[in-house]
Amino acid sequence: MKTLGLIGGMSWESTALYYRGLNEGVRDRLGGLNSAELLMWSFNFEEIEALQAAESWDEATERMVEVAHRLKNAGADGLVICTNTMHKMAADITEAVQIPLIHIADATANALAKAQCSRPLLLATRYTMEQDFYKGRLADNHGLEAVVPGKSGRHTVQQIIYEELCQGIVEAHSKAMMLEIVEDCRNENIDSIIFGCTEIGMLVAQSDFDVPAIDSTAAHINAALDFALS
Ligand code: GLU
Repeated sequence: MKTLGLIGGMSWESTALYYRGLNEGVRDRLGGLNSAELLMWSFNFEEIEALQAAESWDEATERMVEVAHRLKNAGADGLVICTNTMHKMAADITEAVQIPLIHIADATANALAKAQCSRPLLLATRYTMEQDFYKGRLADNHGLEAVVPGKSGRHTVQQIIYEELCQGIVEAHSKAMMLEIVEDCRNENIDSIIFGCTEIGMLVAQSDFDVPAIDSTAAHINAALDFALS
């Protein structure tokens, strides 16, 4: 089994899902007492969020690259960044450490392809929804045309992620708002939904929607298991 290096803590609420999901996945695939071989760095998210909010992306990249080196030096065979947003610096990390990085957008795109979908609604942080690092990869590498909510919808999703889900708060009225945002986007001809933030699956589920909903966390965990056990 290959050793995965997890870059987590963004937030720890979803990193805990990765830890459980990877171990359950190895158990399901190999049986018995088998469990995942993992190394993890868990950031203090207060510090990372401050860099994001200040758009201090160079400093954020330095922090991420430094941790990637630590994980590689500790024996990681491949890296898993446990957040969509911080895939913004995925290319810098790969270039710096030269070990495989299991990219969350590729994992999500492959799950969409399996569901035969090509026009997903992307629910994510405002960085992921508004910048090109994620939508661009979906389009250029996978031919997927992601739709995002309008300005006020994006603002609401961002607030729910940072002020609630990343702090372990799951509110029924926020779920209702999220469903309303999705409903508002239905006239954009979407054929699927991406939970493009690793905490969104804490709030909504496939059973809330009548089109395929791809949880980036679950897709990423599956891709990481494929890598670790190949
Ligand atoms: N975990 C979230 C994501 O998947 C948001 C927190 C972050 O900015 O890393 O994007």
